[in-house]
Amino acid sequence: MERCGLTVALAVEDIERWSAVKDAAYEVDPVMECWLAPLHSGDHASLVQSSLTPGRDWWALWETGSPYRIVLLPRCTVETGIDIVDGEPLTCGLYGCHGGEHS
Ligand SMILES: [Zn+2]
Ligand SMILES: [Zn+2]
Repeated sequence: MERCGLTVALAVEDIERWSAVKDAAYEVDPVMECWLAPLHSGDHASLVQSSLTPGRDWWALWETGSPYRIVLLPRCTVETGIDIVDGEPLTCGLYGCHGGEHS
């Protein structure tokens, strides 16, 4: 899917803090790139980190030209198709009530 792609750089303290989350799923990327569809409404958003918190992830949200904030948000559960391998429904994977199209 095409993405908005606007970027924001994370502060060193935040990279360290979110890298140190218990049971962290990812290495924190120093430059966050917006995951939402082009021309989306609302804040820009990029996934920062996931851990064992079921169905929830840490997202950086920001308005163009403004500082970001990092918040724990429930996952968007809208089904976007069927997995061709196992026949299970695919879900969007962004956060609930995000702007723009589902991924
Ligand atoms: Zn964006
Ligand atoms: Zn969605």
